[in-house]
Amino acid sequence: YFITFEGGEGAGKTSILHSLNEKIYKMGYDVLATREPGGIEIAEQIRKIILDPENTAMEERTEALLFAAARRQHLVQKVLPALEAGKVVLCDRFIDSSLAYQGHAQGLGIDEVFTINQFAIKNCMPDVTLFFDISPKKGLERIAANKDRERNRLDMEKIHFHEQVYEGYQMLANRFPDRIHSINADQTIEQVEKDALNYIISFLKK
Ligand code: C5P
Ligand code: MG
Repeated sequence: YFITFEGGEGAGKTSILHSLNEKIYKMGYDVLATREPGGIEIAEQIRKIILDPENTAMEERTEALLFAAARRQHLVQKVLPALEAGKVVLCDRFIDSSLAYQGHAQGLGIDEVFTINQFAIKNCMPDVTLFFDISPKKGLERIAANKDRERNRLDMEKIHFHEQVYEGYQMLANRFPDRIHSINADQTIEQVEKDALNYIISFLKK
């Protein structure tokens, strides 16, 4: 099964994904944890280009295409082989990030960004997507409190941008109610983790 973790900054996606990876593995599932953009060498190189603070000239469509390119390579080189081997794949971000960030927040249009991503993924949509739902204000407060977090070019966006991203995710959750499941991320990390684990387990046991 292909399970993706989505949400804005500071929602807890990354740390929860890693702890659930361990828990699901201990329950006897063959599981792979990975992330986007990145996850394999070529896509990590593309990630560096996208996030480099020096690349101030990066244009929006170029950026959307680079995210889609990184997605393609990561999908064929890592995700699909794992799915074919029967693994549960947990992926930190996937197509919905592009739809929410580049499509809605950057204003390229969700449908247009969906089109270039369809070219990149060829129908390989996630089976389940967890949307870690927290207001941008609270998410950004969490990040600000975390001094170890790496800074990148896109972190410099303003609060308004993160509100647009959030609105984009809400639109996607309404548009794909069968696939996207919202998790209240404005709780203790332990509780958010529990809710996410319960949902994944109930899905795997179906
Ligand atoms: O997932 P992570 O926080 O590492 O993402 C790296 C950066 O890329 C973040 O600042 C995120 O906002 C941004 N991003 C983006 N569009 C995507 C995926 C990630 O702007 N499609
Ligand atoms: Mg993260």
